[in-house]
Amino acid sequence: MDDRPPVVIGAGPAGIRAAATLATAGLAPIVLDEAPASGGQIYRRAPAGFTRPYPALYGFDAAKARRLHDAFDGIEARIDYRPNTLVWDLKHGALQCLSGEQNREVSYRDVILAPGARDRIIPFPGWTLPGIYTLGGAQIALKHQGCAIGRRIVFMGAGPLLYLVAYQYAKAGGGVAAVLDTTPFAAKRRAVPGLVRGGSTFAKGLWYVAALRARGVTMANGITPVAAEEKNGAVAAFEYRSAAGKERRLACDGIAFGFGLSSETQLADLAEVPFAFDPVQQQFLPERDIAGRTPVGGVYLAGDGSGIAGADAAELAGERAALALLEDRGHAVNTPRVATLERALRKIAGFRVALEAAFPFPIDMAAGMPDETILCRCEGVTAGEFRRAALALDADEINRAKAFSRCGMGRCQGRVCGPAAAIVLAAALQVAPERMGRLRGQPPVKPIPMAAVT
Ligand SMILES: Cc1cc2nc3c(=O)[nH]c(=O)nc-3n(C[C@H](O)[C@H](O)[C@H](O)COP(=O)(O)OP(=O)(O)OC[C@H]3O[C@@H](n4cnc5c(N)ncnc54)[C@H](O)[C@@H]3O)c2cc1C
Repeated sequence: MDDRPPVVIGAGPAGIRAAATLATAGLAPIVLDEAPASGGQIYRRAPAGFTRPYPALYGFDAAKARRLHDAFDGIEARIDYRPNTLVWDLKHGALQCLSGEQNREVSYRDVILAPGARDRIIPFPGWTLPGIYTLGGAQIALKHQGCAIGRRIVFMGAGPLLYLVAYQYAKAGGGVAAVLDTTPFAAKRRAVPGLVRGGSTFAKGLWYVAALRARGVTMANGITPVAAEEKNGAVAAFEYRSAAGKERRLACDGIAFGFGLSSETQLADLAEVPFAFDPVQQQFLPERDIAGRTPVGGVYLAGDGSGIAGADAAELAGERAALALLEDRGHAVNTPRVATLERALRKIAGFRVALEAAFPFPIDMAAGMPDETILCRCEGVTAGEFRRAALALDADEINRAKAFSRCGMGRCQGRVCGPAAAIVLAAALQVAPERMGRLRGQPPVKPIPMAAVT
């Protein structure tokens, strides 16, 4: 009998609830996370020695953060928790795990992948200048280190994080120059009936907008970014076109931008889980059922890594995936609890549809990316060079275009530029973006030192 402990990758809301469920059932899972502490993105813990209280760090979500941290602290003695451990490859029942410069193989019988998400970006002219961050990056600077990315910051993009991060900066005393949303106001108005079903989540969003307005922050909908301007080697201004078509310029020393989130799917890809295009989230996602089971035996998915649904859904999905794993190992599980979890997950999925309608991914912006824009910053490939290479060599699929142009071949392995590159290519070929496929996951999923593998 194979009694190897289950493995959980990721100690965010999904991974923590999965680990707690397994620990409660008497199993002692191995929990691997590249971060130094549990909590994941939203409930990221302050570093040792930082003393900001929970309400200051997590706002409305302080009680949830406390509950999740307490849940993890309560099981830590009963699990095999390995922080600072990056899982960079997964093949034939073995995980390659890097801690410091030490590589270790962990063999598994069953694994729950809960690696979360990252910012989804669309490059615009000047976006690689010092002083420009993703929304998530700007939030991490504030939440984790208590640092602001500038003194006069423009927040730009689309999605709930835009308003949340701008609000967090304003509340912390940061200089918010403007909040510029690429979504037309009409899209949000149309989505209101669906958003109302989100209850307190929708109310929180309205609160952030109202609080920013009350502080006199400039806010606009339906804008199009034109360029970030440089002075003395750093960002000095942001130019954009208003919804009415007027060119505007705002002096700033920091820009935080992003267009929603992309799931971290590389490990699922390496596990050979099949993918399908999700028209709601406009991205390829690994296939799984509501319980988190994939078509690959022993591989389960939970949380934002299998489709963006937010932190509450991640907790529910983590517990559900762990119960699926237990069922598959022959344990008896609490059937009413399973039904409750699935009902709650379905309800949140309905709200997600409304959120995506309120903040649609601006495909046209990516499709019309100016030729001079750096599309792949790792390899320094502009949108024009990418289009020319792909068209000249008949690249009718994103992996071929990568091979011909080097776009997506650098340190980030296309995690940053990939989503926008697929749209740029599709627009050049005048076909739907999903026809371009997706960049295949390659090990290492994140950069590792050569010393670790030689
Ligand atoms: C930067 C950022 C900021 C966000 N801020 C907010 C917010 O303020 N409010 C909000 O409501 N939502 C926020 N979200 C969304 C929210 O974080 C998620 O909905 C929620 O955290 C999902 O939980 P999860 O457990 O699926 O993933 P996460 O919380 O992202 O946890 C995933 C964990 O997996 C680990 N991991 C990933 N890959 C590997 C690997 N290869 N090897 C080892 N470990 C790995 C990570 O270190 C992380 O701890 C944010 C998302 C991002 C990306």
